[in-house]
Amino acid sequence: MELERLVVGMLETNGYILYDEYSLEAFIIDPGDEVKTFIERIQKKRLKPIGIILTHYHYDHIGAVIELKEKYPMPVYIHKKDAKGLNDPYINHSISSFRKAIAIIPDKLVKDGDHIETSWVNLEIIHTPGHTPGGMCIKVKNENIIFTGDTIFNVDIGRMDLDGGDEQAMKNSIRNKISKWKDEVMIYPGHGDPASMEYVRKKNVEFLYMMKKR
Ligand SMILES: [Zn+2]
Ligand SMILES: [Zn+2]
Repeated sequence: MELERLVVGMLETNGYILYDEYSLEAFIIDPGDEVKTFIERIQKKRLKPIGIILTHYHYDHIGAVIELKEKYPMPVYIHKKDAKGLNDPYINHSISSFRKAIAIIPDKLVKDGDHIETSWVNLEIIHTPGHTPGGMCIKVKNENIIFTGDTIFNVDIGRMDLDGGDEQAMKNSIRNKISKWKDEVMIYPGHGDPASMEYVRKKNVEFLYMMKKR
């Protein structure tokens, strides 16, 4: 299994391509708003995209979905609680931020504990609401890799003041799920550099604050 990180768009959103070096099948996680960048990488590596997985519905993570899907027909996965926002340009903030309406009907709705599985990878869905109602992390089974979207970054956590944000839910996600991850787990966030959980436990002040806060 190979992993590539592409940093795209005004908000420097991380998109990821997770692929198998033998079959060349690829999952795309959070294609931001630079469809050309993704297509170039896919063509250069001769990859065969088999699915787009969205950590949440925000505009900076979903801009390339429609064009990518037109070029490479494949299902779009999102947590069931983020499906409505994905199809609503006001909730996903594409209208206010891009002045362009993005509305996407997902193909596959997932929930906590679901697996997206192929011959070469098994991805586990971990529901981590707080930034959005259906925000989720994606764990690669048998690897210390978890894609965390905008739930948690290396030294910060996701905003809770946008539509669907919920501080109590974020606190629960951090305490009941994220804080249980082992030190050697690497988080691959929606913005900024990847980091180990060991690093997060030392340097991420917002994470530490949420752990302490009553
Ligand atoms: Zn977001
Ligand atoms: Zn974002």
